[in-house]
Amino acid sequence: MARVKAALKFKNSNDELIAAKQRLEEMNEELAKLAVTDSLTQIYNHTFLVNTLKFEMGRAGRFSKSMAFLMIDVDFFKKINDTYGHLIGDEVLKEVVHIIKGPIRAVDILGRYGGEEFGLILPETDANGAMILAEKIRTNVEKHAFRVTNGEIKVELQLTISIGVALFPGENVKDVSSIIRNADEALYMAKRDGRNKIYRFS
Ligand code: GH3
Ligand code: MG
Ligand code: MG
Repeated sequence: MARVKAALKFKNSNDELIAAKQRLEEMNEELAKLAVTDSLTQIYNHTFLVNTLKFEMGRAGRFSKSMAFLMIDVDFFKKINDTYGHLIGDEVLKEVVHIIKGPIRAVDILGRYGGEEFGLILPETDANGAMILAEKIRTNVEKHAFRVTNGEIKVELQLTISIGVALFPGENVKDVSSIIRNADEALYMAKRDGRNKIYRFS
């Protein structure tokens, strides 16, 4: 009787240990996901985006492939916040992400660079491919009717985005900061040209 009791006790605590290990593994997985995710939009965060850009540039260099990096910025976003409030602004950002995601491939990496700016890494993509995708994203946003709600407030609005495209290999591109700088500069040109535009750094 005592031996059976001891064996049962051992089995029970062993089962508990297995269950606890499983819970711990699930929690670790959840934590790892949280560490790379932007909490508002649920896409990758700034750190993961930049680290991945570095990694993809290394890979493209090693295998002599071309790749592109897009910097996407919402036009006149401050006006949306000022008109409807930040909570509606937040909902609009989530919807913008949803539209951007539409035409991208599973291998492309979309992250929130900061505020209302998003970075999109396109592995194994040349200038032509990058421009075609950028144009698709730009027009999809332009023609989308954004319907967002926050509590009692219901808003329907239109908006546009500007996109800066940078390529690797590319002019003066040797590290991650130079490709970001090029995308930023192209984005600045798109803004200066009246917004709702795509510029490629050359
Ligand atoms: P431009 O066309 O030149 O890009 O003009 P803009 O108004 O979009 O750019 P600006 O940099 O003047 O303003 C960006 C605004 O985005 C200001 C900031 O308060 C807002 N913003 C940044 N992050 C968030 C966020 O997480 N939620 C909301 N609601 N607003 C945000
Ligand atoms: Mg903006
Ligand atoms: Mg901005």
